[in-house]
Amino acid sequence: MPEPREPADRTVRLLGFWVTPEDPSLPDPAGLVDPAWEESQRHWVADYLDHGQVAGSWMGVSRCRPCSYPNGSRDLTDGYYLWPEGLSHYVLDHSVRLPGEFLAHVEQRLDALEELERESSWWRRNATRT
Ligand SMILES: [Zn+2]
Repeated sequence: MPEPREPADRTVRLLGFWVTPEDPSLPDPAGLVDPAWEESQRHWVADYLDHGQVAGSWMGVSRCRPCSYPNGSRDLTDGYYLWPEGLSHYVLDHSVRLPGEFLAHVEQRLDALEELERESSWWRRNATRT
């Protein structure tokens, strides 16, 4: 299990940004397709990606590279990674496999949320009309 990174370091790792004429060093999604990637895992990864916080919006809609599906114009983040909102489409519909380190991060974050201890005293003290 990787150690969680501190979100306070203010740096997010970019994920799911694809090769362009302006930046040919970025990955090509065609090279990351894994038809054997388990569908259930693709679904929970895509769900996680769809629930990021909006970190920015851009003019114009991004189109999916393989199928031209309109893939949104916003960037989403979980505070550790930042990705274009259409990344879940690549995962679900084209089986574009994301790095194992990111998958482990998602699993760790989801597990941590399930294991949160819940306490209601703050809510009881502060839910008052002012
Ligand atoms: Zn597509």
